[in-house]
Amino acid sequence: MNRVESGPALRYAVVIPTIGRSSLQTCVDALAAAAGPPPRQVVVVDDRRTPASGLPLATPDALRGLLAVVTSGGAGGRGPAAARNAGWRAVSPEIPWIVFLDDDVEVGADWGALLAGDLAVGPEVGGVQGTVTVPLPAGRRPTDWERNVSALAGARWITADMAYRRDALTETAGFDERFTRAYREDADLALRVRDAGWKLVRGTRRTRHPVRQADRWISVRLQKGNADDVLMARLHGRDWYERADASRGRRTGQAAITASAALGLLALVAGRRRWAALAAAGWLVGTARFAVARIRPGPRTASEIATMLATSVAIPPAATLHRVRGWWRHRGAGSWPGRPAAVLFDRDGTLIVDVPYNGDREQVAMMPGAGEALRLLHAAGIPAAVITNQSGVARGLLTAQQVGEVNSRVEELLGPFAAWAVCTHGPADGCRCRKPAPGLVRAAAEAIGVTPQACVVIGDIGSDVAAARAAGSRSVLVPTPETLVGELAGARVATDLVAAVRWVLGTEGVRS
Ligand SMILES: [Mg+2]
Repeated sequence: MNRVESGPALRYAVVIPTIGRSSLQTCVDALAAAAGPPPRQVVVVDDRRTPASGLPLATPDALRGLLAVVTSGGAGGRGPAAARNAGWRAVSPEIPWIVFLDDDVEVGADWGALLAGDLAVGPEVGGVQGTVTVPLPAGRRPTDWERNVSALAGARWITADMAYRRDALTETAGFDERFTRAYREDADLALRVRDAGWKLVRGTRRTRHPVRQADRWISVRLQKGNADDVLMARLHGRDWYERADASRGRRTGQAAITASAALGLLALVAGRRRWAALAAAGWLVGTARFAVARIRPGPRTASEIATMLATSVAIPPAATLHRVRGWWRHRGAGSWPGRPAAVLFDRDGTLIVDVPYNGDREQVAMMPGAGEALRLLHAAGIPAAVITNQSGVARGLLTAQQVGEVNSRVEELLGPFAAWAVCTHGPADGCRCRKPAPGLVRAAAEAIGVTPQACVVIGDIGSDVAAARAAGSRSVLVPTPETLVGELAGARVATDLVAAVRWVLGTEGVRS
Protein backbone atom coordinates (compact mmCIF):
# COMPACT_ATOMS: atom_id res chain seq x y z
CA MET A 1 0.00 0.00 0.00
CA ASN A 2 1.40 3.36 -0.90
CA ARG A 3 -0.04 6.65 -2.02
CA VAL A 4 2.77 7.57 -4.36
CA GLU A 5 1.84 5.00 -7.00
CA SER A 6 -1.44 6.75 -7.69
CA GLY A 7 0.30 10.10 -8.17
CA PRO A 8 2.07 11.28 -11.30
CA ALA A 9 4.04 8.43 -12.83
CA LEU A 10 7.61 8.31 -11.58
CA ARG A 11 9.91 7.31 -14.39
CA TYR A 12 13.31 6.07 -13.34
CA ALA A 13 15.77 3.38 -14.32
CA VAL A 14 18.29 1.58 -12.13
CA VAL A 15 21.86 1.02 -13.31
CA ILE A 16 24.13 -1.50 -11.55
CA PRO A 17 27.71 -1.36 -12.86
CA THR A 18 29.03 -4.80 -11.97
CA ILE A 19 28.17 -8.42 -12.53
CA GLY A 20 29.68 -11.62 -11.25
CA ARG A 21 29.45 -11.23 -7.48
CA SER A 22 26.86 -13.19 -5.53
CA SER A 23 25.67 -9.97 -3.86
CA LEU A 24 24.00 -8.95 -7.15
CA GLN A 25 21.15 -11.41 -6.60
CA THR A 26 20.49 -10.01 -3.12
CA CYS A 27 20.60 -6.48 -4.56
CA VAL A 28 18.11 -7.26 -7.34
CA ASP A 29 15.82 -9.20 -4.99
CA ALA A 30 15.68 -6.27 -2.55
CA LEU A 31 14.89 -3.93 -5.44
CA ALA A 32 12.06 -6.18 -6.62
CA ALA A 33 10.63 -6.45 -3.11
CA ALA A 34 10.70 -2.72 -2.33
CA ALA A 35 7.34 -0.97 -2.00
CA GLY A 36 6.57 1.93 -4.32
CA PRO A 37 6.73 2.59 -8.03
CA PRO A 38 8.99 0.03 -9.72
CA PRO A 39 11.81 1.06 -12.06
CA ARG A 40 10.96 1.22 -15.77
CA GLN A 41 14.24 -0.47 -16.57
CA VAL A 42 17.07 -2.16 -14.68
CA VAL A 43 20.38 -2.20 -16.54
CA VAL A 44 23.18 -4.41 -15.22
CA VAL A 45 26.57 -3.84 -16.82
CA ASP A 46 28.89 -6.74 -17.52
CA ASP A 47 32.24 -5.01 -17.18
CA ARG A 48 34.31 -8.18 -17.13
CA ARG A 49 37.07 -8.55 -19.69
CA THR A 50 35.30 -11.58 -21.07
CA PRO A 51 31.58 -10.89 -20.68
CA ALA A 52 29.35 -13.94 -20.41
CA SER A 53 26.14 -14.17 -22.38
CA GLY A 54 22.78 -14.21 -20.67
CA LEU A 55 21.72 -13.08 -17.24
CA PRO A 56 23.62 -14.82 -14.46
CA LEU A 57 20.85 -14.36 -11.93
CA ALA A 58 17.28 -15.33 -11.25
CA THR A 59 14.95 -12.52 -12.34
CA PRO A 60 12.38 -11.76 -9.62
CA ASP A 61 8.78 -11.68 -10.90
CA ALA A 62 8.43 -7.96 -10.17
CA LEU A 63 11.30 -7.17 -12.53
CA ARG A 64 10.43 -9.62 -15.30
CA GLY A 65 10.95 -8.00 -18.70
CA LEU A 66 12.66 -4.98 -17.16
CA LEU A 67 16.15 -6.41 -16.61
CA ALA A 68 18.79 -6.03 -19.29
CA VAL A 69 22.52 -6.72 -19.37
CA VAL A 70 24.84 -4.55 -21.43
CA THR A 71 28.61 -4.68 -21.77
CA SER A 72 30.73 -1.62 -21.16
CA GLY A 73 32.10 -1.80 -24.68
CA GLY A 74 35.61 -2.23 -25.89
CA ALA A 75 37.57 -4.79 -23.96
CA GLY A 76 35.58 -4.33 -20.75
CA GLY A 77 37.38 -4.27 -17.44
CA ARG A 78 37.55 -0.48 -17.58
CA GLY A 79 36.03 0.01 -14.17
CA PRO A 80 32.78 1.24 -12.68
CA ALA A 81 32.90 4.73 -14.26
CA ALA A 82 32.94 3.37 -17.82
CA ALA A 83 30.43 0.68 -16.83
CA ARG A 84 27.96 3.20 -15.38
CA ASN A 85 28.28 5.32 -18.53
CA ALA A 86 27.46 2.30 -20.68
CA GLY A 87 24.54 1.59 -18.35
CA TRP A 88 22.84 4.99 -18.33
CA ARG A 89 23.36 5.43 -22.05
CA ALA A 90 21.49 2.15 -22.59
CA VAL A 91 18.44 3.46 -20.70
CA SER A 92 15.47 4.56 -22.87
CA PRO A 93 15.76 8.28 -23.64
CA GLU A 94 12.31 9.10 -22.27
CA ILE A 95 13.29 8.05 -18.74
CA PRO A 96 14.45 11.23 -16.97
CA TRP A 97 16.05 9.78 -13.81
CA ILE A 98 18.82 7.22 -13.48
CA VAL A 99 19.44 5.67 -10.06
CA PHE A 100 22.89 4.16 -9.65
CA LEU A 101 23.09 1.29 -7.20
CA ASP A 102 26.16 -0.78 -6.38
CA ASP A 103 25.84 -4.53 -6.66
CA ASP A 104 26.57 -5.01 -2.97
CA VAL A 105 23.75 -2.92 -1.51
CA GLU A 106 20.23 -3.81 -0.37
CA VAL A 107 17.60 -1.13 -0.80
CA GLY A 108 15.17 -0.65 2.08
CA ALA A 109 11.66 -2.14 2.17
CA ASP A 110 9.99 1.19 1.30
CA TRP A 111 12.76 2.35 -1.05
CA GLY A 112 10.62 2.95 -4.15
CA ALA A 113 8.00 4.91 -2.23
CA LEU A 114 10.64 7.12 -0.59
CA LEU A 115 12.46 7.51 -3.92
CA ALA A 116 9.25 8.91 -5.44
CA GLY A 117 9.34 11.63 -2.80
CA ASP A 118 13.08 12.14 -3.23
CA LEU A 119 12.69 12.76 -6.97
CA ALA A 120 9.78 15.18 -6.59
CA VAL A 121 12.23 18.08 -6.78
CA GLY A 122 12.51 21.24 -8.82
CA PRO A 123 14.39 21.44 -12.13
CA GLU A 124 17.38 23.01 -10.37
CA VAL A 125 18.14 19.68 -8.65
CA GLY A 126 20.37 17.43 -10.74
CA GLY A 127 20.94 14.61 -8.26
CA VAL A 128 19.44 13.12 -5.10
CA GLN A 129 21.52 10.97 -2.79
CA GLY A 130 20.20 8.00 -0.86
CA THR A 131 21.12 7.39 2.77
CA VAL A 132 23.54 4.51 3.05
CA THR A 133 23.79 2.55 6.29
CA VAL A 134 26.58 0.12 7.04
CA PRO A 135 25.62 -2.57 9.58
CA LEU A 136 28.47 -3.14 12.02
CA PRO A 137 28.92 -6.18 14.27
CA ALA A 138 27.22 -5.92 17.64
CA GLY A 139 29.15 -6.62 20.82
CA ARG A 140 32.66 -5.80 19.58
CA ARG A 141 34.59 -2.93 18.12
CA PRO A 142 34.71 -2.73 14.32
CA THR A 143 37.91 -3.73 12.55
CA ASP A 144 39.91 -1.29 10.45
CA TRP A 145 38.22 -2.64 7.29
CA GLU A 146 34.75 -2.40 8.85
CA ARG A 147 35.45 1.18 9.90
CA ASN A 148 36.65 1.93 6.39
CA VAL A 149 33.41 0.63 4.84
CA SER A 150 31.29 2.37 7.47
CA ALA A 151 32.73 5.70 6.29
CA LEU A 152 30.51 5.22 3.22
CA ALA A 153 27.55 6.08 5.43
CA GLY A 154 28.80 9.64 5.83
CA ALA A 155 30.23 10.07 2.31
CA ARG A 156 28.63 12.61 0.01
CA TRP A 157 27.20 11.75 -3.39
CA ILE A 158 28.38 8.14 -3.36
CA THR A 159 27.01 6.05 -6.18
CA ALA A 160 26.13 3.16 -3.88
CA ASP A 161 22.69 4.81 -4.14
CA MET A 162 22.63 8.04 -6.12
CA ALA A 163 19.94 9.31 -8.48
CA TYR A 164 20.94 11.64 -11.30
CA ARG A 165 18.82 13.46 -13.80
CA ARG A 166 19.55 12.25 -17.33
CA ASP A 167 20.08 15.89 -18.41
CA ALA A 168 22.80 16.30 -15.78
CA LEU A 169 24.57 13.18 -17.04
CA THR A 170 24.26 14.35 -20.67
CA GLU A 171 25.61 17.80 -19.88
CA THR A 172 28.63 16.42 -18.02
CA ALA A 173 29.21 13.48 -20.40
CA GLY A 174 28.69 11.25 -17.35
CA PHE A 175 31.45 9.67 -15.33
CA ASP A 176 35.07 10.49 -16.10
CA GLU A 177 36.41 7.16 -17.34
CA ARG A 178 39.95 7.97 -16.29
CA PHE A 179 38.81 6.98 -12.80
CA THR A 180 39.20 3.24 -13.21
CA ARG A 181 38.26 2.11 -9.71
CA ALA A 182 35.34 2.68 -7.38
CA TYR A 183 36.93 5.69 -5.71
CA ARG A 184 36.44 9.42 -6.32
CA GLU A 185 34.61 8.89 -9.64
CA ASP A 186 31.44 9.76 -7.75
CA ALA A 187 32.86 12.89 -6.10
CA ASP A 188 34.24 13.99 -9.48
CA LEU A 189 30.83 13.67 -11.15
CA ALA A 190 29.11 15.48 -8.28
CA LEU A 191 31.49 18.44 -8.57
CA ARG A 192 31.00 18.63 -12.34
CA VAL A 193 27.20 18.40 -12.08
CA ARG A 194 27.28 21.28 -9.61
CA ASP A 195 29.64 23.24 -11.87
CA ALA A 196 27.12 22.72 -14.69
CA GLY A 197 24.50 24.59 -12.69
CA TRP A 198 22.58 21.94 -10.72
CA LYS A 199 22.02 21.42 -7.04
CA LEU A 200 22.60 18.09 -5.35
CA VAL A 201 20.46 17.18 -2.37
CA ARG A 202 20.05 14.35 0.10
CA GLY A 203 16.97 12.18 -0.10
CA THR A 204 15.11 10.08 2.46
CA ARG A 205 15.37 6.58 0.98
CA ARG A 206 17.59 4.11 2.82
CA THR A 207 19.96 1.50 1.52
CA ARG A 208 22.07 -1.02 3.44
CA HIS A 209 25.66 -1.57 2.45
CA PRO A 210 26.92 -4.70 4.24
CA VAL A 211 30.64 -5.14 4.89
CA ARG A 212 31.89 -7.85 2.58
CA GLN A 213 34.68 -10.24 3.48
CA ALA A 214 38.16 -8.98 2.72
CA ASP A 215 41.64 -10.35 3.26
CA ARG A 216 44.15 -8.64 5.55
CA TRP A 217 45.91 -6.75 2.75
CA ILE A 218 42.83 -4.88 1.54
CA SER A 219 43.93 -1.65 3.23
CA VAL A 220 47.22 -1.74 1.30
CA ARG A 221 45.50 -2.38 -2.04
CA LEU A 222 43.14 0.53 -1.40
CA GLN A 223 46.15 2.86 -1.51
CA LYS A 224 45.80 2.81 -5.31
CA GLY A 225 43.13 5.43 -4.69
CA ASN A 226 45.90 7.94 -3.98
CA ALA A 227 46.44 8.18 -7.74
CA ASP A 228 42.78 9.21 -8.09
CA ASP A 229 43.26 11.90 -5.43
CA VAL A 230 46.02 13.35 -7.60
CA LEU A 231 43.69 13.37 -10.62
CA MET A 232 40.99 15.06 -8.52
CA ALA A 233 43.40 17.83 -7.50
CA ARG A 234 44.40 18.33 -11.15
CA LEU A 235 40.80 18.54 -12.33
CA HIS A 236 39.17 20.44 -9.47
CA GLY A 237 41.97 22.28 -7.68
CA ARG A 238 43.55 21.52 -4.32
CA ASP A 239 40.46 22.58 -2.40
CA TRP A 240 38.34 19.83 -3.93
CA TYR A 241 38.30 17.99 -0.59
CA GLU A 242 36.34 20.78 1.04
CA ARG A 243 33.97 21.21 -1.88
CA ALA A 244 33.26 17.47 -2.08
CA ASP A 245 33.14 17.09 1.71
CA ALA A 246 35.80 14.36 1.48
CA SER A 247 38.44 13.33 3.98
CA ARG A 248 42.02 14.26 3.22
CA GLY A 249 43.52 11.19 4.86
CA ARG A 250 46.98 11.12 6.40
CA ARG A 251 49.03 11.81 3.35
CA THR A 252 51.57 14.28 4.73
CA GLY A 253 52.45 11.86 7.53
CA GLN A 254 52.75 9.00 5.07
CA ALA A 255 55.08 10.96 2.81
CA ALA A 256 57.28 11.81 5.84
CA ILE A 257 57.42 8.17 6.97
CA THR A 258 58.31 7.05 3.44
CA ALA A 259 60.96 9.77 3.14
CA SER A 260 62.52 8.64 6.44
CA ALA A 261 62.70 5.06 5.20
CA ALA A 262 64.23 6.14 1.88
CA LEU A 263 66.78 8.41 3.59
CA GLY A 264 67.72 5.64 5.99
CA LEU A 265 68.38 3.20 3.18
CA LEU A 266 70.39 5.77 1.22
CA ALA A 267 72.47 6.61 4.27
CA LEU A 268 73.07 2.92 4.92
CA VAL A 269 74.25 2.38 1.34
CA ALA A 270 76.50 5.43 1.64
CA GLY A 271 77.98 4.06 4.88
CA ARG A 272 76.60 6.95 6.99
CA ARG A 273 75.53 4.82 9.92
CA ARG A 274 74.64 7.64 12.26
CA TRP A 275 72.32 9.21 9.67
CA ALA A 276 70.87 5.81 8.87
CA ALA A 277 70.08 5.19 12.53
CA LEU A 278 68.48 8.61 12.87
CA ALA A 279 66.30 8.11 9.79
CA ALA A 280 65.38 4.59 10.92
CA ALA A 281 64.29 5.99 14.27
CA GLY A 282 62.12 8.56 12.47
CA TRP A 283 60.57 5.84 10.35
CA LEU A 284 59.96 3.64 13.39
CA VAL A 285 58.29 6.38 15.41
CA GLY A 286 56.11 7.44 12.47
CA THR A 287 55.08 3.88 11.64
CA ALA A 288 54.40 3.02 15.29
CA ARG A 289 52.19 6.07 15.74
CA PHE A 290 50.31 5.19 12.57
CA ALA A 291 49.82 1.59 13.73
CA VAL A 292 48.66 2.67 17.20
CA ALA A 293 46.14 5.08 15.67
CA ARG A 294 44.69 2.19 13.69
CA ILE A 295 44.81 -0.41 16.47
CA ARG A 296 43.31 1.75 19.22
CA PRO A 297 39.70 1.98 17.93
CA GLY A 298 39.54 -1.65 16.82
CA PRO A 299 39.13 -5.09 18.42
CA ARG A 300 42.43 -5.93 20.10
CA THR A 301 42.58 -9.48 18.83
CA ALA A 302 45.94 -11.01 17.90
CA SER A 303 44.86 -11.32 14.29
CA GLU A 304 43.70 -7.70 13.94
CA ILE A 305 46.81 -6.37 15.71
CA ALA A 306 49.09 -8.43 13.45
CA THR A 307 47.21 -7.16 10.39
CA MET A 308 47.47 -3.55 11.58
CA LEU A 309 51.21 -3.85 12.29
CA ALA A 310 52.00 -5.42 8.92
CA THR A 311 49.83 -3.10 6.88
CA SER A 312 50.99 -0.02 8.80
CA VAL A 313 54.49 -0.77 7.55
CA ALA A 314 53.27 -1.25 3.98
CA ILE A 315 50.73 1.55 3.65
CA PRO A 316 52.93 4.69 3.81
CA PRO A 317 55.27 3.64 0.97
CA ALA A 318 52.34 2.21 -1.04
CA ALA A 319 50.38 5.45 -0.64
CA THR A 320 53.39 7.55 -1.62
CA LEU A 321 54.21 5.41 -4.64
CA HIS A 322 50.61 5.57 -5.87
CA ARG A 323 50.63 9.35 -5.47
CA VAL A 324 53.79 9.59 -7.56
CA ARG A 325 52.32 7.18 -10.10
CA GLY A 326 49.13 9.28 -10.27
CA TRP A 327 51.11 12.48 -10.63
CA TRP A 328 52.97 11.00 -13.60
CA ARG A 329 49.99 9.33 -15.22
CA HIS A 330 47.68 12.34 -14.96
CA ARG A 331 50.28 15.06 -15.49
CA GLY A 332 48.59 16.37 -18.68
CA ALA A 333 44.97 15.54 -17.78
CA GLY A 334 42.39 18.08 -18.93
CA SER A 335 38.69 18.34 -18.21
CA TRP A 336 36.32 15.49 -19.04
CA PRO A 337 35.31 14.72 -21.76
CA GLY A 338 37.79 17.01 -23.48
CA ARG A 339 37.15 19.40 -26.33
CA PRO A 340 34.10 18.78 -28.49
CA ALA A 341 34.34 17.72 -32.14
CA ALA A 342 32.11 20.65 -33.17
CA VAL A 343 30.19 23.59 -31.74
CA LEU A 344 26.64 24.24 -32.97
CA PHE A 345 25.39 27.82 -32.56
CA ASP A 346 21.85 29.05 -32.50
CA ARG A 347 21.56 32.05 -34.88
CA ASP A 348 19.07 34.67 -33.64
CA GLY A 349 19.88 36.09 -30.23
CA THR A 350 23.12 34.11 -30.12
CA LEU A 351 25.33 34.92 -33.13
CA ILE A 352 23.29 37.88 -34.36
CA VAL A 353 20.89 40.31 -32.75
CA ASP A 354 17.37 38.86 -32.83
CA VAL A 355 15.18 40.80 -35.26
CA PRO A 356 11.95 38.74 -35.36
CA TYR A 357 11.28 37.20 -38.80
CA ASN A 358 14.02 39.25 -40.39
CA GLY A 359 14.46 38.76 -44.13
CA ASP A 360 16.67 41.80 -44.70
CA ARG A 361 20.44 41.23 -44.85
CA GLU A 362 21.02 44.90 -44.02
CA GLN A 363 19.50 44.38 -40.57
CA VAL A 364 21.98 41.67 -39.59
CA ALA A 365 24.12 42.77 -36.61
CA MET A 366 26.56 40.59 -34.70
CA MET A 367 26.04 39.86 -31.03
CA PRO A 368 28.85 41.11 -28.74
CA GLY A 369 31.82 38.75 -28.78
CA ALA A 370 30.55 36.68 -31.72
CA GLY A 371 33.55 37.49 -33.91
CA GLU A 372 36.05 36.74 -31.14
CA ALA A 373 34.23 33.52 -30.14
CA LEU A 374 34.40 32.16 -33.70
CA ARG A 375 38.03 33.22 -34.08
CA LEU A 376 38.91 31.28 -30.91
CA LEU A 377 37.17 28.16 -32.20
CA HIS A 378 38.77 28.48 -35.62
CA ALA A 379 42.21 28.84 -34.05
CA ALA A 380 41.56 25.68 -32.02
CA GLY A 381 40.57 23.80 -35.17
CA ILE A 382 37.02 23.09 -33.95
CA PRO A 383 34.36 23.36 -36.67
CA ALA A 384 31.33 25.60 -36.01
CA ALA A 385 27.84 25.16 -37.44
CA VAL A 386 24.52 27.01 -37.17
CA ILE A 387 21.20 25.46 -36.11
CA THR A 388 18.26 27.82 -36.47
CA ASN A 389 14.45 27.78 -36.31
CA GLN A 390 12.95 29.99 -39.05
CA SER A 391 9.23 29.48 -38.61
CA GLY A 392 8.65 32.81 -40.38
CA VAL A 393 8.72 30.77 -43.60
CA ALA A 394 5.84 28.52 -42.48
CA ARG A 395 3.99 31.54 -41.16
CA GLY A 396 4.29 33.27 -44.54
CA LEU A 397 6.24 36.16 -43.04
CA LEU A 398 9.42 35.61 -45.06
CA THR A 399 10.62 33.41 -47.89
CA ALA A 400 13.21 30.67 -47.83
CA GLN A 401 15.24 32.86 -50.17
CA GLN A 402 15.25 35.71 -47.66
CA VAL A 403 16.40 33.30 -44.95
CA GLY A 404 19.20 32.27 -47.29
CA GLU A 405 20.20 35.91 -47.85
CA VAL A 406 20.34 36.59 -44.12
CA ASN A 407 22.36 33.41 -43.62
CA SER A 408 24.85 34.40 -46.28
CA ARG A 409 25.25 37.77 -44.55
CA VAL A 410 25.94 35.94 -41.27
CA GLU A 411 28.52 33.87 -43.10
CA GLU A 412 30.17 37.04 -44.50
CA LEU A 413 30.41 38.49 -41.00
CA LEU A 414 31.30 35.39 -39.00
CA GLY A 415 31.84 32.42 -41.27
CA PRO A 416 32.47 30.23 -42.98
CA PHE A 417 30.50 27.60 -41.09
CA ALA A 418 30.98 23.87 -41.46
CA ALA A 419 27.22 23.29 -41.73
CA TRP A 420 23.86 25.05 -41.64
CA ALA A 421 20.75 23.31 -40.37
CA VAL A 422 17.59 25.38 -40.80
CA CYS A 423 14.04 24.43 -39.81
CA THR A 424 11.41 26.37 -41.76
CA HIS A 425 8.43 24.61 -40.17
CA GLY A 426 5.94 26.16 -37.80
CA PRO A 427 5.26 25.00 -34.23
CA ALA A 428 2.08 23.17 -35.34
CA ASP A 429 3.76 21.19 -38.13
CA GLY A 430 4.92 18.43 -35.80
CA CYS A 431 8.33 18.21 -37.46
CA ARG A 432 11.31 16.57 -35.77
CA CYS A 433 13.73 19.37 -36.56
CA ARG A 434 12.27 22.45 -34.91
CA LYS A 435 14.03 23.07 -31.59
CA PRO A 436 13.42 21.86 -28.85
CA ALA A 437 13.31 18.68 -30.99
CA PRO A 438 16.77 17.22 -31.62
CA GLY A 439 16.59 17.11 -35.45
CA LEU A 440 18.70 20.18 -36.23
CA VAL A 441 21.44 19.12 -33.81
CA ARG A 442 21.53 15.64 -35.36
CA ALA A 443 21.50 17.03 -38.92
CA ALA A 444 24.34 19.47 -38.28
CA ALA A 445 26.42 16.82 -36.50
CA GLU A 446 25.86 14.39 -39.37
CA ALA A 447 26.77 17.03 -41.96
CA ILE A 448 30.09 17.58 -40.17
CA GLY A 449 30.63 13.86 -39.71
CA VAL A 450 30.60 13.75 -35.89
CA THR A 451 28.21 12.34 -33.27
CA PRO A 452 25.80 14.63 -31.37
CA GLN A 453 27.45 13.39 -28.15
CA ALA A 454 30.68 15.00 -29.33
CA CYS A 455 29.03 18.40 -29.93
CA VAL A 456 28.34 21.40 -27.73
CA VAL A 457 25.31 23.59 -28.53
CA ILE A 458 25.48 27.29 -27.67
CA GLY A 459 22.15 29.13 -27.61
CA ASP A 460 20.19 31.86 -25.88
CA ILE A 461 16.96 30.15 -24.81
CA GLY A 462 15.73 26.98 -23.16
CA SER A 463 14.72 25.29 -26.41
CA ASP A 464 18.35 25.38 -27.58
CA VAL A 465 19.36 23.58 -24.38
CA ALA A 466 16.45 21.12 -24.69
CA ALA A 467 17.33 20.29 -28.32
CA ALA A 468 20.93 19.65 -27.30
CA ARG A 469 19.91 17.34 -24.45
CA ALA A 470 17.41 15.47 -26.59
CA ALA A 471 20.21 14.78 -29.06
CA GLY A 472 22.72 13.86 -26.32
CA SER A 473 24.85 17.00 -26.76
CA ARG A 474 26.20 19.25 -24.06
CA SER A 475 25.09 22.89 -24.08
CA VAL A 476 25.86 26.39 -22.88
CA LEU A 477 23.22 29.08 -22.49
CA VAL A 478 24.24 32.68 -23.14
CA PRO A 479 21.23 34.60 -21.87
CA THR A 480 19.88 37.82 -23.35
CA PRO A 481 17.23 40.06 -21.75
CA GLU A 482 14.68 37.87 -23.57
CA THR A 483 15.82 34.69 -21.82
CA LEU A 484 13.32 33.61 -19.17
CA VAL A 485 14.59 33.10 -15.62
CA GLY A 486 13.08 29.62 -15.60
CA GLU A 487 15.25 28.65 -18.55
CA LEU A 488 18.37 29.21 -16.48
CA ALA A 489 17.53 26.49 -13.91
CA GLY A 490 19.77 23.50 -14.42
CA ALA A 491 21.56 25.07 -17.39
CA ARG A 492 25.23 25.83 -17.82
CA VAL A 493 25.19 29.61 -18.20
CA ALA A 494 27.92 31.84 -19.64
CA THR A 495 27.90 35.62 -19.46
CA ASP A 496 28.81 36.03 -23.13
CA LEU A 497 29.82 34.09 -26.22
CA VAL A 498 33.54 34.41 -25.56
CA ALA A 499 33.12 32.94 -22.06
CA ALA A 500 31.03 30.12 -23.53
CA VAL A 501 33.73 29.28 -26.08
CA ARG A 502 36.47 29.53 -23.47
CA TRP A 503 34.58 26.95 -21.45
CA VAL A 504 34.30 24.76 -24.55
CA LEU A 505 38.06 25.03 -25.03
CA GLY A 506 38.70 24.24 -21.38
CA THR A 507 40.42 27.53 -20.75
CA GLU A 508 37.83 29.02 -18.41
CA GLY A 509 35.12 27.98 -15.98
CA VAL A 510 31.56 29.02 -16.62
CA ARG A 511 29.49 30.93 -14.08
CA SER A 512 26.67 28.71 -12.93
MG1 LIG B 1 17.87 32.22 -30.33
